[in-house]
Amino acid sequence: MVDRHRDLQELIRLLVEEAYPELRPSDIDVGWKRTSFFGTVSWTSLPGSIRITCNTQTKKWHEAALLGLLSHELSHPAQDNHSTTERSTDIDVIERGLGPYLAAERATTGKYEDYIISRGRDRYLGYRTIRGHLLGLELTQLDALLREMQLVPSKKGGRELLSHEVSIRHSNKQIDIAVDGNVFTVTGDTKDSKIELIAREGITRVYADGQEIGSYSNSKI
Ligand SMILES: [Zn+2]
Repeated sequence: MVDRHRDLQELIRLLVEEAYPELRPSDIDVGWKRTSFFGTVSWTSLPGSIRITCNTQTKKWHEAALLGLLSHELSHPAQDNHSTTERSTDIDVIERGLGPYLAAERATTGKYEDYIISRGRDRYLGYRTIRGHLLGLELTQLDALLREMQLVPSKKGGRELLSHEVSIRHSNKQIDIAVDGNVFTVTGDTKDSKIELIAREGITRVYADGQEIGSYSNSKI
């Protein structure tokens, strides 16, 4: 049986070596877990430590899509800035030449169009927009990947999770948890693994260690 856990570590090593030189001194830990999101990233100020968790659903993904998800997660700490948006994080991935993988990830998750969050103030770029940012050789690369993945981008969504991902930034005794463009700040020690989302009647509630720390409306407008 293939050891997918070792695969993840190897993919991270490759990405850091090739595209994230500033993260070489960082202590990066990566693993699988059952969560309400595809990916979770938490980090402390650089070089610091970075922890990435991938949803167990992604074990079935093609390696190219996993590379796309991991790139996006690495681009959060690589920017290390409070004002980081999901859009700027996606653009950072594209600027590092990893756009074809990001597009492969969005095609895998059925995000064909931009995925608007935070009532229009932020967005994850969809397959189509990412494609528009790619250069000639990258487009050829993407088409080859999609052929290999036997994936036809479609407007039908993939299996929906509550959120695409969660990013958690640790600074002096304060933790900022960003979910779909909503930032919730908690103080003290919260384990990343204890962040949960529960959606009911159009409202998503965010819990840390079993305590509700905030909620947001699922309406996109
Ligand atoms: Zn993100």
